[in-house]
Amino acid sequence: AAMRKSRIKRTKTVCTYCGVGCSFEIWTKGRHILKVEPQEHAPVNGISTCVKGKFGWDFVNSEERLTKPLIRKGEEFVEASWDEALNLIASKLQEIKEQHGPDALGFIASSKCSNEENYLFQKFARAIIGTNNLDNCSRYCQSPATSGLLRTVGIGGDSGTIRDIQQADLVVTVGANPAESHPVLATRIKRAHKLHGQKLMVVDLRENELASRANLFIHSKPSTDLIWLNAVTKYILDQGWEDKAFLEARVKGLDKFRASLEKYTLAFAEEKTGISKENLIKMATMIHEAKSVCILWAMGITQHTCGTDASTAISNLLLVTGNYGRPGTGAYPLRGHNNVQGACDFGTMPAWFPGYEPVEDNEVRERYEKAWGVKLPENPGLDNHQMIGGIKSGKLRGLYLFGEEMAIVDSNINFVEEHLEKLDFFVVQDVFFSKTAQFADVILPAAPSLEKEGTFTNTERRIQRFYQVFEPMGESKPDWVIFQELANKMGAQWHYQHPGEIMAEAASLAKYFAGISYERLEGFNSQIWPVKKDGTSTPLLYQDRFAFPDGKARLVPVDWEPPFSAGEGFDYHLNNGRLLEQFHEGNLTDRSPGIHHKVPEPWLEISPEAASERGIKDGALVRLTSPYGKVKVRAVVTGRVQGKELYLTMNARKEDEMVNRLTSSYHDRVTHTPNYKEMGVKMEILEEK
Ligand code: SF4
Repeated sequence: AAMRKSRIKRTKTVCTYCGVGCSFEIWTKGRHILKVEPQEHAPVNGISTCVKGKFGWDFVNSEERLTKPLIRKGEEFVEASWDEALNLIASKLQEIKEQHGPDALGFIASSKCSNEENYLFQKFARAIIGTNNLDNCSRYCQSPATSGLLRTVGIGGDSGTIRDIQQADLVVTVGANPAESHPVLATRIKRAHKLHGQKLMVVDLRENELASRANLFIHSKPSTDLIWLNAVTKYILDQGWEDKAFLEARVKGLDKFRASLEKYTLAFAEEKTGISKENLIKMATMIHEAKSVCILWAMGITQHTCGTDASTAISNLLLVTGNYGRPGTGAYPLRGHNNVQGACDFGTMPAWFPGYEPVEDNEVRERYEKAWGVKLPENPGLDNHQMIGGIKSGKLRGLYLFGEEMAIVDSNINFVEEHLEKLDFFVVQDVFFSKTAQFADVILPAAPSLEKEGTFTNTERRIQRFYQVFEPMGESKPDWVIFQELANKMGAQWHYQHPGEIMAEAASLAKYFAGISYERLEGFNSQIWPVKKDGTSTPLLYQDRFAFPDGKARLVPVDWEPPFSAGEGFDYHLNNGRLLEQFHEGNLTDRSPGIHHKVPEPWLEISPEAASERGIKDGALVRLTSPYGKVKVRAVVTGRVQGKELYLTMNARKEDEMVNRLTSSYHDRVTHTPNYKEMGVKMEILEEK
């Protein structure tokens, strides 16, 4: 028994799924995963995990893994050596750069990969190629929140930690479904609500699990959150309920802001949002009476034409009521992927170096030029959305994408596919032959988190290390190793022996990360940025000052505009979202047999009213049509959705089930985040159950 035990290995790792950032020990024997064991001293989750963290790891040993580089020959892909594949990539990137300039190339980074890999990728794009055409999937999700927070309080991240959410007197969730999308965080809210009398207000189109427990559940009409946010803020100001001392000492722009709210009366809000005046007053009163308020939001706010402005309105409301900088207060845009926060933090964005320092700032650019020994591009580059536009206009010729499933998760994928086909050269680096990889010229096999070392940053800005459990399968390699080998083929002299050295370089350059080090992050230790040189974390932001040169926050007026309309006849509103069991399209979870077995396919939620109006029974096969495409799914009749509002889950890997066959190319005015949640569709029955 002792011998058997000695062959069992226990390794600390961090979950590869959502932004909550659970960590645990994974028990393995050979390549066999025995179990996932949460530890009391894990900083985020302690002894909890959700079904994905516990059972979602078998994809690592899937026979479908990519194990060798592949090069396209006509319609076929043939196996190649690493040398052959990297030489081809180096020469093609060089050729496009010489013929069309560095901005003819685009780089899409991965929010599933480590901070170090994202750092190295942006260094590759900026220093080796010379372009800021760099983005990651936050463009599809929380960029509007980042932007709304940067405008008002100066840092684009959660303002406190999950502990603050637990401590709050009142938690408000808007357009978020934490019980399925951020399960362990949701259990903290449920516990605080049940055992400690924490109040809970849920605003959503759908009666999700938290809504069914809330003190107040508010259903607002689709795409009208900005209106009630402004109206509730106005009501608070009209009653004289604002935090006068806080506003006086710490916030700028109150007079102009107050004037901007004039039209947001209760009557106007009631008419547009469908929320009664009584409920609007109830919402304002709950916020006023609470000693500390946290507002949590997700895609239900951001994936709209007004996404940035609605996020701004949330921050305005928190400022007016003095709900920043104290324990139990603040703004919490819930991060989706395990490392979407880190991908942004470490600079895979078109306008920012690591730590959100602008590429246009001469002093910042010079710092990086000196460290990297190159001249760097001065202007912000193209984001994901603009890159597709760049292919259309012929300006963008080549794309390098890693760990990202653009051909499923971008909106209006019929349009995206058509343009990916047109690229002169396309590199896809992934763990699996993804749908996006079908469009590639070269496919590189990457190693998932269990086969390498690195750090992830969760939604609280908490940085945690994960350790290597297995050797990379076949010839696959860690993403950072691939970037280094490719950079060196293109004339660089990179000699990173370990991801810790990459983090040390980032820490020496970006002030928010100054005191981050692998030694300080050893085991279950973690650090929350900004981290001072002496290693001190900042769990709660804005205690003394906001992140602007004068230390003051800004109230920013924002105005509602009607959402995108699909046109006449598209009379059902289509909402969409995640499931507890599956993660996004399911590229990883669906390849974990236990999970696939539980939830094999997506479904469409239909209200009892819509079902009887159209004669649709539970289990019927229905067709949804938008101006952009069609899907075919099974219907579930449920009181969770109301009237003509439908809800489609996103776990689709079959071509005719993908929600983004239906979504449009319209987007948030400020950040270009697609308006995934503003879709009108037609619905017809294909087959009775
Ligand atoms: Fe992983 Fe998120 Fe589940 Fe935690 S809550 S185990 S981070 S998917």
